[in-house]
Amino acid sequence: MSPEVKKGILLAPYTTFGIGGAAEYFAVASSEEELTLLAKYAREHNLRVSILGEGSNLLVSDSGVKGLVIKNEIKGITHKAENEKVLVTAGAGEGWDAFVLRTVETGWWGLENLSAIPGTVGATPIQNVGAYGVEVGNLIEEVKVYSLREQKFITMKSDECHFGYRDSIFKSEAGKDLIVVSVTYSLSTAPNPQIHYKDLAEYFSDHTNEPSQKEIRNAVVLIRSKKFPDWRQLGTAGSFFKNPVISTEHYNELTKQYDGLPGYPAGDGTIKVSLGWILDKVCNLRGARTGQVGTYENQSLVLINYGGATAVDVNAFAESVKEEVFKKTKILIEMEPQRW
Ligand SMILES: Cc1cc2nc3c(=O)[nH]c(=O)nc-3n(C[C@H](O)[C@H](O)[C@H](O)COP(=O)(O)OP(=O)(O)OC[C@H]3O[C@@H](n4cnc5c(N)ncnc54)[C@H](O)[C@@H]3O)c2cc1C
Repeated sequence: MSPEVKKGILLAPYTTFGIGGAAEYFAVASSEEELTLLAKYAREHNLRVSILGEGSNLLVSDSGVKGLVIKNEIKGITHKAENEKVLVTAGAGEGWDAFVLRTVETGWWGLENLSAIPGTVGATPIQNVGAYGVEVGNLIEEVKVYSLREQKFITMKSDECHFGYRDSIFKSEAGKDLIVVSVTYSLSTAPNPQIHYKDLAEYFSDHTNEPSQKEIRNAVVLIRSKKFPDWRQLGTAGSFFKNPVISTEHYNELTKQYDGLPGYPAGDGTIKVSLGWILDKVCNLRGARTGQVGTYENQSLVLINYGGATAVDVNAFAESVKEEVFKKTKILIEMEPQRW
């Protein structure tokens, strides 16, 4: 039976920002079959399809979204073990952090550094979710998608997903019609602690033994709790801007002016610079606020909706941050969440 399609459902409560108008049409897909039925419905009614996970990386416009919004709730976790390698497949609608916790409790190494990130499994390949020195794209074996254009399921190998920094094929024109239904991660029963990232290295600096998987997860959860607000209490989509990647020449110029600007080689003669540092030290924007929108007092990359802010308010505030950064550094910064 086809899932119920509702009209005019307000999207704000479905996003962690707590912002956004109504979806023209709205439905929940709990299985691959329901998803294909909804895709057929959209085709027959000539509706554009947008896929919603837990809305933790979205800024939805105040006027809402035309077409059919499908909330992906396809669940299920299976695994195949081969010596130390474990291929774990999770339905796109599984909650990400509960899934990570399960892999940690089972002793499957790989995802522990990505603990405490909100959202669903299905959204992790979209922006190649990353944190604390690990990017999910490096652990993804394959992604099963439903192609709206070809009207069929396709399995894509990791290299076909074109993972980059907060980027993948799913954000490009070529991948916009692909709906993720499940993701297979390549994990390992052999310990492989990744604690080179500054905050984790500092946390474990007095440890004589290699930390366990649980210790790494607990450390990440603790460090994150100091940097990010609790999205269940305060409206936010996490880091609102990406760390910019600039040429080495540009970086060298900036360090003459701003001594200590952190930068990390990002390949092909480019440097990824810390936008948080620029917002704090160069633009003095930590905790800045206009009306109900501002940067978070513990981490200026994070924008906050203090209650009742609109998408127009957030865009205006973000624009003012962008201008200030450009004025001081000639860097054009980009927004991280998807705009609907
Ligand atoms: C407090 C906080 C901290 C965060 N920290 C991090 C972090 O450390 N690292 C990081 O990378 N991100 C972080 N994020 C951003 C966010 O949690 C992730 O991007 C997450 O993967 C989004 O999942 P979601 O299910 O909420 O996606 P949504 O916000 O619902 O959707 C995001 C985009 O993905 C698309 N999408 C979602 N599911 C599917 C699917 N099944 N098929 C096709 N397209 C789909 C949507 O259409 C939309 O374009 C943070 C967010 C918050 C609020």
